[in-house]
Amino acid sequence: MSKRYPTADGVFYAVQDVSLDVQPGEFYSLLGSSGSGKTTTLRLIGGFERPDLGEVFIGGERVTAQPPYRRSVHTVFQNYALFPHMSVAENVAYPLKIARVPRSEFGPRLEAVLKLVQIPELGDRAPSQLSGGQQQRVALARALINRPKVLLLDEPLSALDAKIRDELRQELRQLQQQTNLTFIYVTHDQEEAMALSDRLAVMHRGRVEQIGTPAEIYNAPASAFVAQFIGQANFLSGEIMELTAEGAIALINDVPLKVTYPDQPPTVGETVTLMIRPERIQVGAATADNQLVGKTLGMTYIGQLTELQVETPVGQLKVVQLGQAGEARSLSWQAKDCIIVPSFNSKA
Ligand code: ADP
Ligand code: MG
Repeated sequence: MSKRYPTADGVFYAVQDVSLDVQPGEFYSLLGSSGSGKTTTLRLIGGFERPDLGEVFIGGERVTAQPPYRRSVHTVFQNYALFPHMSVAENVAYPLKIARVPRSEFGPRLEAVLKLVQIPELGDRAPSQLSGGQQQRVALARALINRPKVLLLDEPLSALDAKIRDELRQELRQLQQQTNLTFIYVTHDQEEAMALSDRLAVMHRGRVEQIGTPAEIYNAPASAFVAQFIGQANFLSGEIMELTAEGAIALINDVPLKVTYPDQPPTVGETVTLMIRPERIQVGAATADNQLVGKTLGMTYIGQLTELQVETPVGQLKVVQLGQAGEARSLSWQAKDCIIVPSFNSKA
């Protein structure tokens, strides 16, 4: 799908050539910083916007021209969007009323769904009498009561404070597994996306940079942008000296390093960007594929971790060690943890 808006000097693509294939029962996230096109993508799926190009299918049915209420989706927003003049029960039952479900069904379904989101006792309250976390539970109950095929969630936890957010995050995942609904979840919080998702799409400037499981995206980022957006990363620039059975040898400041590549092999003589995660570097000379001498420039203790800044012959590296580490005089890492990052499509 593509969605563009007119601007003073032409058009602006809020979403460009985005193609997603979300499986039934999947917890699928759209992850990206503010302005990357996540909400627009969700609105295209929900039917609040029409794509300029492309189609939307839900359960095999083409819904591109259908209004939101004709699609089997329900959206949960960051700001809850509850009706202030209605009680919790009236808010939650509202989709049943719109869908003309017989009144006799309201009671049992209300009871079940309020229990599901763990607020069985709050039906008679007004939204103004609830905390933020409780209001979002009401919004979730309202989203679930008419059993949509797909739940669209637009940063539903970002207005909540950290403790409640962590709590609700765990519950959301459980809820999704219990109901076996398809969740499409928008967030700018990479930890949240990594913790919750079966798969995620990393968005950047209206485009999808990479789609994969959290592990795939962390271990084999498809671009330098993804590598630095998800977790922490050291980048090195090197030249490919030779290809080996396991990977390649790259030269960085005249130091040969054993490296690997996710899919396409590089060519000899090519300049490549290499990435090493700080926690994949071991302090001390271990039996690893790559070993370097180092000089520790700085150390910070952050809770259970020590973060070191180490000067090495290939440049300065950030190293993260479990526990309280001492100064590093040498570093080592495996070839599989030093990967060539594809340079296509990366505007980071
Ligand atoms: P995100 O949810 O990732 O923060 P959005 O999808 O809301 O991003 O927006 C993507 C880009 O499209 C932003 O630059 C935003 O300003 C622009 N945009 C969104 N909606 C409109 C609109 N109705 N008119 C003009 N520009 C828009
Ligand atoms: Mg948004």
